[in-house]
Amino acid sequence: MNSNLAKNIFRKRLIIEGLFQKEIKSEDFVDSFLRRLSQELEMTIIAGPFISSATGKSVPLHDGFEGTLVWAESGVSTYVWTNSNFATVDIYSCKQFDTKQAIDFVIKEFDMKNFSYHEIPDPLTYQEDNRVEILTTDEKGSGVFAKDFIPAETQISYVDGQIHFAEKESQVFIYAADHAVPFHKYFYRNGFNTNAVKLNHSCEPNCYVKDLFFVTTLRDIHPGEELTYCYSLFCNSDWKNPEGVCLCGSQQCLGKILPWRDLPSEFKKKYIDYTADWILFDEMKKNGYIKKLTEDI
Ligand SMILES: [Zn+2]
Repeated sequence: MNSNLAKNIFRKRLIIEGLFQKEIKSEDFVDSFLRRLSQELEMTIIAGPFISSATGKSVPLHDGFEGTLVWAESGVSTYVWTNSNFATVDIYSCKQFDTKQAIDFVIKEFDMKNFSYHEIPDPLTYQEDNRVEILTTDEKGSGVFAKDFIPAETQISYVDGQIHFAEKESQVFIYAADHAVPFHKYFYRNGFNTNAVKLNHSCEPNCYVKDLFFVTTLRDIHPGEELTYCYSLFCNSDWKNPEGVCLCGSQQCLGKILPWRDLPSEFKKKYIDYTADWILFDEMKKNGYIKKLTEDI
């Protein structure tokens, strides 16, 4: 589970590991490698390299060399296991650099035949829609509001927390954090670090949870409107909201936040397109639609 505690501070970690073919006989290689890597990534050396040899100082498995270099932009460390022909390079930078360029350089320098890498933050992380903002209101505490016009079917956020398993359906939500989203009878995912955690429930929602975890608008949203989703369209367990009653205040408030199975049939029909796929799928199986599908395909 990731949490960006300092969104205003840019930082990037890149760990590259590999099995190398180069013959590394002395600490000089690590010293020269660290200096040239700094040049390649245009980093500013302010201290080091500090190099040492682990040979004879640890168990034989760890024989090799290690080195650290301090940059104005953070730093880099390298660990070389000479008897296993294995090396790790850890880069931490508060300045952007090209991941592929760094990997290519390390592979060439060490003559790596096999490598793996891990980059933090993940460059493919889901980007939330920035047309919303979190505001605090007297009636409901905090909520998500539109700053601009947002068209229907826009993905605005993503449920990004840890996935939990409940042994029984009735236990779903026992360990759940706020705003957990079930995606199976026994599995649910906590909301965690995105705007999805701040979304309030409404019995007349303008958003829904699509494709398991994506909070998506179900109609056009106008500036100043609060974005809401209806828990009943993705929850189907015995969970009850702590207040016991629904406080959404909408025109079509059901009075309670009900699991999908207890919703009035008219409500189910109205929101069928916005109901979680897994709930509909269970329902289809129960009603024999899947059997019919096997005849059709
Ligand atoms: Zn309500």
